[in-house]
Amino acid sequence: MLKVLDFLKTPRFLSNAFLFCVGALLLIIGIDFARIEINKLAHKRATEIAHDWSTQLVTNAPFLPRLLSTPRGESKPVRSLGNVRPVSPVLGYRIYGPDGELRVMADAPSPPPDISEPAFVTQITLPLTYDGKKVGTIVSDIDSGSFHEILVDGALKLGILVSMALAFLLFVSHSVRLASRQEALRNANHLMQSDSVTGMPTQPAFLDMLATAHSQEVAQQTTTNLYLLNLDRFARVNERLGNSVGNMLLRLVAERLRLACGKTVVCAHISGDTFGVIADERTGKRLHKTLQQVFLQPFNFGQNVIRLSASIGAATSTAGLYSCDELHRNAELALRAAKTNGGQQLVSYDSDTVAEFREIDRIATFVEDACQNNDFELHYQPVVDARTRKLCSFEALLRLTTADGEKIGPDSFIPVAERIGRIEEIGLWTLREACRTVAGLPKHIGMAVNLSVQQFNSGKLVAEVTKIIEDTRVDPSRIELEVTEGIMIGDTDPVFKQLSDLQALGIKIALDDFGTGYSSLNYLWRFTFDKLKVDQAFIRASDHNPKAYALLSKIVEVGRLLDMSVTAEGIETEDHAKRVADLGCDYSQGYLFGKAIPQTSLASVVISEFAEYIRRQTGGKADVDGAEVASS
Ligand code: C2E
Ligand code: MG
Ligand code: MG
Repeated sequence: MLKVLDFLKTPRFLSNAFLFCVGALLLIIGIDFARIEINKLAHKRATEIAHDWSTQLVTNAPFLPRLLSTPRGESKPVRSLGNVRPVSPVLGYRIYGPDGELRVMADAPSPPPDISEPAFVTQITLPLTYDGKKVGTIVSDIDSGSFHEILVDGALKLGILVSMALAFLLFVSHSVRLASRQEALRNANHLMQSDSVTGMPTQPAFLDMLATAHSQEVAQQTTTNLYLLNLDRFARVNERLGNSVGNMLLRLVAERLRLACGKTVVCAHISGDTFGVIADERTGKRLHKTLQQVFLQPFNFGQNVIRLSASIGAATSTAGLYSCDELHRNAELALRAAKTNGGQQLVSYDSDTVAEFREIDRIATFVEDACQNNDFELHYQPVVDARTRKLCSFEALLRLTTADGEKIGPDSFIPVAERIGRIEEIGLWTLREACRTVAGLPKHIGMAVNLSVQQFNSGKLVAEVTKIIEDTRVDPSRIELEVTEGIMIGDTDPVFKQLSDLQALGIKIALDDFGTGYSSLNYLWRFTFDKLKVDQAFIRASDHNPKAYALLSKIVEVGRLLDMSVTAEGIETEDHAKRVADLGCDYSQGYLFGKAIPQTSLASVVISEFAEYIRRQTGGKADVDGAEVASS
C-alpha cells in the first residue's frame, strides 16, 4: 500500500497523469468539434439535395406556379402533384404560396413496417422559383442519416490514422532519447580515467556517471538501475595466492562483467573487490540474472582454477524517486544485506532491508561508541562441577549498555561488531580483561572466553593471546577459549593450526553451542577439542522429548570416547542438573547456579562458594582465611 502511495507521489506519475488529463480534454473538444463539422457538412449536402429536388419539382409540375398564384379559398392543401412524388432521400415536402398559405403537402410513401424510422431528418426551406420569379416557398424533409454515417466513418478512420501516427512519433522520440542517454553514458565512460588493473572506470568516474545517469533519469522520466558487486572472501585469495593472482582475477572478473553486460551498460571497478554497474530501464531488468551467472563458471588461468562468488546489491530509482546519493546508499544497504545473509546472492533494496539495516546501523553506532569510550563491560557466569556443584570456573560474557540505559545483548551486537570489523579489537579487550580478573581469583578457578570466527582471519591471534598471557601473568591452563561450529565453514586448516598453537600454549579449547551450528561430526576427529559445551536447546528439549534425551546421552558418550570433558549449558532446574549429572556430564552452567554477574560481585560469590565448600567439608562452621564465615 505504501509503495502504491509512494508511486502516486512520484513526479513521473504526476506528469503522466497531467498528460492524460490534457489528452482526455483534447479528445472531448475534438469529438465535439467533429460533431459540429459533421452536422454542418450533412446540412450542406441536404440543402443541395433539396435544391435539386425543388428544381426537378418545378420542371415536372409546370402547373405549379399557376396553382400557387390561385387563392386557395376554403379548399384543403393539395396532397399530391400527380406523378411528382418525393424520391429518397427526400422524405416529403410542403409548398407555401406567396401569401404564406400551405398549398401542397406531400409525404414519401410510408416505409415497410420492418424498416425503422430514419435517424436523421433535416428540414430545408428554399424559395420556389419559376422563370426567375419566386412563386412560393418549399420546405423539404431530407433523410440525412446516410451522410452522417459516411462522415462519422470517415472521421473515425482519420482519428485512428492520426493516433497511430502520434504513437509512432512517441516511440521514435523515446528511442532517440534512450539512445542519446546511453550514448552520453558511453562517452562519459570512455572519457573517464580508467583503473590500471581492470581498465574500467574508477570510483570518482563511476560516481560522475551515476550522477549523469540520474539527472537524465529525472529529465526523461526513466529508470536508473544500480548494482554494487562485492567478491566474497576475496581477501583470502589475495592472502593465499598473492596480490598478482588477485589482480589477474580482478581483470578476469572485469572482462566477464563487460561481456555479460554489453556495451550499453556502465561497468566500473569501484574499489579493491567491488564493482559497480549502471543500467537503464530496459537493460536493467535482465541484469539481475546475468550478473549472478557471471560467477557460475570457475576462473581458470595457468594451473589455477578458482571459484569466486559475489554479493550483489541492487537498487532502482524511477523519475527521481530517490536522489543520486539515496540510490547509491540503497544499493550499499542491499549489498550489505547480501553479505550478511552469507554472500553469493543478489539482494534488491526494499523497505524491509532498510528496516533491518537501520537497526544494524543503530547497533553499529553503539558498538563504535563503546569501542571509543571503553564502555563494554564483562560479566561472569559460574560453571560448576556437575556432580559436586563446586564452582570450577566462570565464563566471561560481554555486556553493552547504551548512554540511554538500553541493554543490548551480545547475540545482537557481536554479529554487528563482526560486520563492521571491530570484533578483533573487542575480542582482545575481552580476553585481556578476563585474564586480569581470573589472575585475581583463587588458583583452582578457571576462566572461559568466547572467540569469534573472525578473530582467526588475521593470523595474529596466537601472538596476541601469548602477549596477553604474558602481560597478565595468568597460568594459561586456567584459560579456556570457546569457539563455535562456525569455524568449520570454509577453509578449516588455518583455523585448526591456530587452535593447536593455542593448545600448545597450555590453553584449553572448547567447542561451544555444540549441536546447533554446522553439525558435522567429521571435525571432532580432525581436531582434538578439550571440551564440548552442549547447547542449552538440547537440555530444554530433553525435558519432554525422548529423542533429544537420547541424543544428549550420546553426545556425552562421544565426549567421553574422544577424551573431551562435557559441559551442559542452560541448566535452569534441579531436574536439569540431576539429569545431566546422571548422564555423566562433567560441568553444568545455567541460571540454577547463577546468571552472569559483574566483576564487583565476583569476590562474594567466590568467598561464599568457598565457605559453602568448607562447610560441606567440616559439616558446620568453619574458619576461612582466619575469618569466621557463617554458612547460609
Ligand atoms: P554462549 O557463549 O553460549 O553463552 C551462554 C549464553 O547463554 C549467555 O547468553 C548466557 O547468559 C546464557 N545462559 C546461561 N545460562 C542460561 C540459562 O540457564 N538459561 C538461559 N535461557 N540462558 C542461559 P549471553 O550472555 O546473552 O550471550 C549470548 C552469546 O553471545 C554467547 O553464547 C556467545 O556466543 C556470545 N558472546 C557473549 N560474550 C561474547 C564475547 O565476549 N565474545 C564473543 N565472540 N561472543 C560472545
Ligand atoms: Mg560460550
Ligand atoms: Mg553456549
